[in-house]
Amino acid sequence: MRKNIVAGNWKMNTTLQEGVALAKEVNAALEGVQPKCDVIICVPFTHLASVNDVIDANKLGLGAENCADHASGAYTGEISAAMVASTGAKYVILGHSERRQYYGETSETLKEKVALAFENGLTPIFCIGEVLEERENGTYFDVVKAQIESALFHLSAEDFGRIILAYEPVWAIGTGKTATDDQAQEMHAFIRGVIADKYGKEVADNTSILYGGSCKPTNAAALFAKPDVDGGLIGGAALKADSFMGIVNAF
Ligand code: PEP
Repeated sequence: MRKNIVAGNWKMNTTLQEGVALAKEVNAALEGVQPKCDVIICVPFTHLASVNDVIDANKLGLGAENCADHASGAYTGEISAAMVASTGAKYVILGHSERRQYYGETSETLKEKVALAFENGLTPIFCIGEVLEERENGTYFDVVKAQIESALFHLSAEDFGRIILAYEPVWAIGTGKTATDDQAQEMHAFIRGVIADKYGKEVADNTSILYGGSCKPTNAAALFAKPDVDGGLIGGAALKADSFMGIVNAF
């Protein structure tokens, strides 16, 4: 069966020293407790190896926030999936709306990134979600379906089964404006249906679909209580150990 997961996305926040301290705090908060979900932190590239050294991998998963769409070579400033994996990280966020919006990521580049993540043993946390205009003009189901189809539906059922999806309505990211739990459930159930139509009910039922967008300790329990919401991808609230743990403990 699918897993419940709470994953932090630190974005471009914290210095190395601050990040290591935050990772230590989250790791300490998980000591001696049995959360009802897997817990992951996705951190800046510069922090990966040092964070890996201070966390207990059995309690706290580690991921990157992106990887390159090429395996290696003359791509100055890029970080490959192999480099990410060599730090000990096991996950990589791909297709975050900020990367799609500010760095022009398309389904074509994301297909390459997903393939390279798999080749290097990384689990993609693959983000999808509509912008405000698409929510308001009622095309949001079509938009999200097209994002999944164009970047992921070339995969075999086995490979698709290795993906964690994160539905992140762009209008809710970092805005304080959360999707209601009913809006999240409606979209997550729709996504599961899209997966079932392509890969069958078993694959759909086994896919973890996280919600992301201004998720906080105060709204997480209601969101996670919905049958198709399997956890959260957490931005701002992941930058303080107590608010992140408040969300982890919402399960
Ligand atoms: C995110 O960027 O993945 C996110 C969900 O951000 P926030 O929680 O800050 O809205």
